Amino acid sequence: KRAEEEEQRSLPARLTDGHQVAIGANVNRPDQVPLALAQGGEGVGLMRTEFLFLERGDTPSEDEQYETYRGMIDALDGRPLIVRALDIGGDKQVAHLNLPHEENPFLGVRGARLLLRRPDLLEPQLRALYRAAKGGGDLSIMFPMITSVPEVIALRSHCERIRAELDAPAVPIGIMIEVPAAAIQADVLAAHVDFFSIGTNDLTQYALAIDRQNPDLAAEADSLHPTVLRLIRMTVEGARRHDRWVGVCGGIAGDPFGAALLTGLGVAELSMTPRDIPAVKARLRESDLATLEALAAKAVTAETAEQVRALDGAGA
Ligand code: PEP
Ligand code: MG
Repeated sequence: KRAEEEEQRSLPARLTDGHQVAIGANVNRPDQVPLALAQGGEGVGLMRTEFLFLERGDTPSEDEQYETYRGMIDALDGRPLIVRALDIGGDKQVAHLNLPHEENPFLGVRGARLLLRRPDLLEPQLRALYRAAKGGGDLSIMFPMITSVPEVIALRSHCERIRAELDAPAVPIGIMIEVPAAAIQADVLAAHVDFFSIGTNDLTQYALAIDRQNPDLAAEADSLHPTVLRLIRMTVEGARRHDRWVGVCGGIAGDPFGAALLTGLGVAELSMTPRDIPAVKARLRESDLATLEALAAKAVTAETAEQVRALDGAGA
């Protein structure tokens, strides 16, 4: 029985018609990689680097960051790794950075906005990443909390300058789609990046105007709300115009029904907490793409999240 379970986990998330969805793990430290692979992860679709800063009382040096990124690449042994640049601000505050107080931190200097204001944070991180890339492996860099084209252009030019200084290989550069502005302008943003990864936790918060941490509103903050699904559909359509792939690394990727719906919307990669991987793979192996596309088409025209959830088990 155990051997059978392990075999199931290691199988790809292939639908009955052969369509395959890439399955990544959300993992922050090299020592968590073996468990993620044992659960059936095919790579790391989201490494949240803020944990390097949050777990300690000071800022990690370029060398320390290099060691961690290199350790992740080595632990993955050729499998893909997407490292997200520092996403500080909002719910993730780092006391030792002494950032100014904000009335609305979720609408403030967060993610890419902070990186562009703080070269002392951005540059060591990019240098560490490109140094790690020089040693080989399948590394991509992703930027959080993007809302506009100029942010992407500015961040890419920092990447290119540092890559050239280090004589490092080019690596794919992607952005998080987690603000409605980015989803709505996805067709424009796609021309400037190699891939998108949708952060449904923040996309839900910003689309529905619900603080993701407010326990009174937790039930309403449903990433399967038709509004959020429409933003995801726009993102996929925008990416397709430029032949870019779209992943999802927010919590709904790890929900079996959510994963089925996202696949039907055209998402190519799902990255999740390692323990969610086996159930998602099992769910995807039950369906074919046409069925999931029909399910997604119904979901985006539903009136409420409840109606979307009621589609679960209704023949898909
Ligand atoms: C998200 O917003 O969905 C996401 C994956 O990023 P985080 O949860 O780290 O904000
Ligand atoms: Mg986010």
